Amino acid sequence: GAVKPSNFLRNAIEQDLARGTYSQRRWGGSPGDAAHHSAGIADPAAVRMRFPPEPNGYLHLGHAKSIWVNFSMAHNYGGACHLRFDDTNPEKEEQEYVDSIRDMVNWLGYSTEYADVPGQPGTSQAHVYFASNYFDFMYRAAEYLVESGNAYVDEQSPEDMRANRGDFGTPGKDSPFRSRTPAENLARLREMRDGQLADGAAVLRAKIDMASPNINMRDPALYRIRRATHHNTGDKWCIYPMYTFAHPIEDALEQITHSFCTLEFEDQRPFYDWLLAKLCEGGMLQTPPPRQYEFARLNVTHVITSKRRLRQLVEEGHVDGWDDPRMPTIAGLRRRGFTPDAIKLFCERSGVSKSGGWIDYATLEGTLRDVLDPVAARALAVLEPVKLELTNWDSLFGAGHEEPCHAPVNPHDEAAGQREFTLGREIWIEAEDFMEVPAKGYRRLFPPHTGGDGQPKEGNKVRLKYGYVIQCTGVEKNADGSISKVLAEVIPDTKSGTPGADSVKVKGVIGWVGAHNATPAEFRLYERLFKVEHPGEADLADELNPSSLSTMQGYVEAGLAQALQAEGAEPKPLQFERLGYFVRDRQAPWAADKLVFNRACSLKDGWKP
Ligand code: ATP
Ligand code: MG
Ligand code: MG
Repeated sequence: GAVKPSNFLRNAIEQDLARGTYSQRRWGGSPGDAAHHSAGIADPAAVRMRFPPEPNGYLHLGHAKSIWVNFSMAHNYGGACHLRFDDTNPEKEEQEYVDSIRDMVNWLGYSTEYADVPGQPGTSQAHVYFASNYFDFMYRAAEYLVESGNAYVDEQSPEDMRANRGDFGTPGKDSPFRSRTPAENLARLREMRDGQLADGAAVLRAKIDMASPNINMRDPALYRIRRATHHNTGDKWCIYPMYTFAHPIEDALEQITHSFCTLEFEDQRPFYDWLLAKLCEGGMLQTPPPRQYEFARLNVTHVITSKRRLRQLVEEGHVDGWDDPRMPTIAGLRRRGFTPDAIKLFCERSGVSKSGGWIDYATLEGTLRDVLDPVAARALAVLEPVKLELTNWDSLFGAGHEEPCHAPVNPHDEAAGQREFTLGREIWIEAEDFMEVPAKGYRRLFPPHTGGDGQPKEGNKVRLKYGYVIQCTGVEKNADGSISKVLAEVIPDTKSGTPGADSVKVKGVIGWVGAHNATPAEFRLYERLFKVEHPGEADLADELNPSSLSTMQGYVEAGLAQALQAEGAEPKPLQFERLGYFVRDRQAPWAADKLVFNRACSLKDGWKP
């Protein structure tokens, strides 16, 4: 099999597996009802990871990185990975996001169901966890911290609390409420829980060290009062745990072994360890507890990966919704023509490291090309059509003749078979494949003309891909001077794949579709959404690329509509030869006589800043 490059996360896992760190968890302290304090984990996974999104928006490319890191590590070491909704904040979370997050994790190819535990049929359980299901346990943990003298209820005003926290280099000051007895604190905490205090009137804080050089250790808040209806627990609670308190507990209850997060949480790690050590000591959690490891977040040039900024793009109407093909949401990438394999390979290529950096946008599209080239079906399309008439067609073949042509579905994959279409008297060609007065070195169609040396020049010959060599004989124009038709003649006996194909040498090959049977199609061409490399530093509106979308009306080869209809609900990206990779737009209503395609990427990187 493929050798996976080693990284520091793998090293941590391999070390724990070698030492058997998590093979025998045990309860510390005096257990009490401790045995009930696990999230019902029954399978014996040696390592366990989690992807813990907050359901307050759609997943983006950065989340894909985290999904890939967690699920692939778990998979590589025969472990399990949980999809956990970190839904401890009642105000911003919605079912719509829960559903779409689960869909996207599934679409990336990761199951959110457990298989049966080996040897124990019928023990399968949902692979999806909700942090809000642990609110009861979290509250008991809070009471335990109070009883053991490790937490207190602080009733300073928010301003005083902020002022007394101190600053980098300046120690904080103890709150006047810090010396309350455990009994006083417990009574006050219960009043908080029972709704006897107003929102914001008090917070529960850990009692650690107001002089710690790490500000996160200066008595961080554990619970706040907030009267808000929660999507899962309704109005049961008017106090909610803070993320920094909830997250380590969620990991421990689910028996996570390695908790991977991004670098900005590095300063939180001492509190993560402090909290779990206290709860293990008290017999509330099994020991050893999970450990947190940080890696650099994914940053891609010209791309924004922040839910808040992405929401702004949607709400201000800069894009057409969360799944606009220019959005770096997983839904947007999918609609653009990215495949799960391409997204995962990109995550792998971006690397897992301790130091941040920017990955070039070109790497994203380059990865997509690498993944699609060997598998994508080919087709001919004309994006900006001009009609061309083969004036000697009827005399050569008889009026109405259609010449059968064939082409490989994929030139790298003979087993994919052949596609069939026909050539007739009139075809559509790309406007840029004809020049009335050829530029120097132009090798495609031009009519007979007088050269720069005053001598008459012949009309040029090109090959129609998979068809005949043709020679341009003239052009017809509309009253306004625009081109109505290019005229050409077929050179007999030059059809591709026949013995005479090479008898006439040409320097250009052009794409075409039959005017008698091509299907009309709309093509939406996308460029990077932001013209600046590092968007998000200034006003978004000034950073946007004004030409990130252009729409063309053209044609695709006969037979493609039927092929697409047969492929089913999940559109597969394909290559329009010479033009790029495209995918049928999944939002456009199906109409066999009007197809809509999104361009995923061109065949080469042509970005000019
Ligand atoms: P955002 O800043 O977009 O709101 P978030 O980190 O607040 O993202 P969460 O829902 O909390 O969003 O994220 C779930 C997981 O995804 C977290 O573990 C987080 O670290 C990870 N994640 C988010 N963005 C990135 C990124 N750019 N690179 C790697 N991991 C990321
Ligand atoms: Mg977050
Ligand atoms: Mg966030």
